[in-house]
Amino acid sequence: MGVRAADVVIVGGGSCGSVLAARLSEDPACSVLLIESGTGVATRGPWPAHILPIGPGSPHAHHYATTLRHGVAGTLVRGRGPGGSGAVNGAYFVRATPADLDAWGRATGGRPGRTVWSYGDALPYFRRSEHDHDFGSSAVHGDAGPVPVRRRTAESWSAATDRFVAAAEAMGFPAEPDKNAGGPAGIGPVPCNIDRGMRVDPGSAYLRAAAGRPNLTVWTGTTVRALRMSAGAVRAVQVLRDGGLLEVQAYNVVLAAGAIETPALLWRSGIGDPRMLGAAAVHALPGVGREFSDHPEITIPYKPAPPVGDPVSGERAAPPILEACLNLDTGDGAVEIRPYTASFGDAVPGNPPMPPVLGAALMAPWGRGRMVPHPADPCGAPRIEHHYLSDPRDEAAAAAAVDLARGLLDASGMGTPIDGMPANLGTSQHLSGTCPMGTDPGTAVVDPRCRVHGIGGLSIADTSVFPRVPSRGPHATAVMLAERAAEFVASGLRVP
Ligand SMILES: Cc1cc2nc3c(=O)[nH]c(=O)nc-3n(C[C@H](O)[C@H](O)[C@H](O)COP(=O)(O)OP(=O)(O)OC[C@H]3O[C@@H](n4cnc5c(N)ncnc54)[C@H](O)[C@@H]3O)c2cc1C
Repeated sequence: MGVRAADVVIVGGGSCGSVLAARLSEDPACSVLLIESGTGVATRGPWPAHILPIGPGSPHAHHYATTLRHGVAGTLVRGRGPGGSGAVNGAYFVRATPADLDAWGRATGGRPGRTVWSYGDALPYFRRSEHDHDFGSSAVHGDAGPVPVRRRTAESWSAATDRFVAAAEAMGFPAEPDKNAGGPAGIGPVPCNIDRGMRVDPGSAYLRAAAGRPNLTVWTGTTVRALRMSAGAVRAVQVLRDGGLLEVQAYNVVLAAGAIETPALLWRSGIGDPRMLGAAAVHALPGVGREFSDHPEITIPYKPAPPVGDPVSGERAAPPILEACLNLDTGDGAVEIRPYTASFGDAVPGNPPMPPVLGAALMAPWGRGRMVPHPADPCGAPRIEHHYLSDPRDEAAAAAAVDLARGLLDASGMGTPIDGMPANLGTSQHLSGTCPMGTDPGTAVVDPRCRVHGIGGLSIADTSVFPRVPSRGPHATAVMLAERAAEFVASGLRVP
């Protein structure tokens, strides 16, 4: 027997799911059920921005094994619980660039003057999502949105940031005082979703603020196992709740389980490449998991130079993990050099002590990763391969980025590379595009309005639908996408 729960069922209460639940339930006539596998709505507030609570055994994170490149294993982390990855991330809140969003338009079949996605299409939703405390309301910024955005001022920078920025300026890199203004790339402060030292993730900014609405129900500690479809439309979600399997009738379902669990849920429901799913295939969409993009990051450990100047103030004792960074658009790619303010050993509880690192990330890599279902267990973690630096252009760009980072380390006096500790290939944890948007169901999973091709009532609105990872961190763009997708869903609700 099914339970009729709501007009819209949202799967996953992470960065995007929190926005969707809050925006869709603004209409009192629209009942919304948000289902989130993690717990903590009653007990968990926001985290201090300098702590990433994602270490080994953390109840606030899912961990997945990946192969970053041949012979190099890695671990992927996703947040678990209201706010999802946004609740445990680095609080860097930088928008995709105009070029990124215009490329999304081309990838989703847009033509000049007729696009669903472009910088101009996205800008009102970036503005709507934020309260920019530094720039206030303007053509590019909002001052009334749920997410507070602030940049640390130069006077409050840590010694490492201060030295790094001075060196980048001295080397002639242009200033980028507002990384959310859509201007040319350069050196400047990182806009952060931080208020009084605490990370204000979408779980706090949107979901907690909406939690008292009578038309919004939030089930935490509840995992959606699969979707049930018939006659080409979604009919129900099957959930694991209170130790039992329950079927919830659903005529409008929005998946927001993130770039790893959304494709896994589609596969468990028989949606994907029939050659992979075999007899379990219900609906052919070969693009599920077929490729994804992410930002490889090479970290250079260094021994910090002794501090000079003022004694460390209370505020300086706990800066966010990244206060400023250098962005470069190289024509053939994009690079971000990150002077982290702390070692990951300090930032990630449970990690062993580690030296501080300078990160060099490829922000528009050519290489694509691939994800496939677990070969034996439909509920098991997918097999993930990043194929980082598999494209010779990425290999060359990575070598150049590491040279640049070493040059900045040397010129800045931040410290000295540690003998015997090589630069390390890792991931920025920005995995995107496992169910990409597009018009061709042979490659794309959702259309440009986030509707799953060929299945009525089913949409996806999370980082899995990005046509490709933006050339800046994805979080601000994920929130923007969810703002827009809430409107798409509201305008196309199916009635049972
Ligand atoms: C450690 C870390 C640091 C990062 N730092 C930054 C940063 O500083 N800046 C930046 O721009 N980006 C950063 N990112 C990336 C960014 O946070 C993510 O891309 C973004 O939050 C993803 O949003 P999402 O809504 O797609 O998924 P998520 O926020 O991951 O949400 C998915 C939610 O779905 C739930 N869920 C999954 N499966 C099910 C199921 N079957 N049933 C019910 N619920 C389910 C999960 O528990 C989770 O809450 C970071 C990511 C990580 C992990």
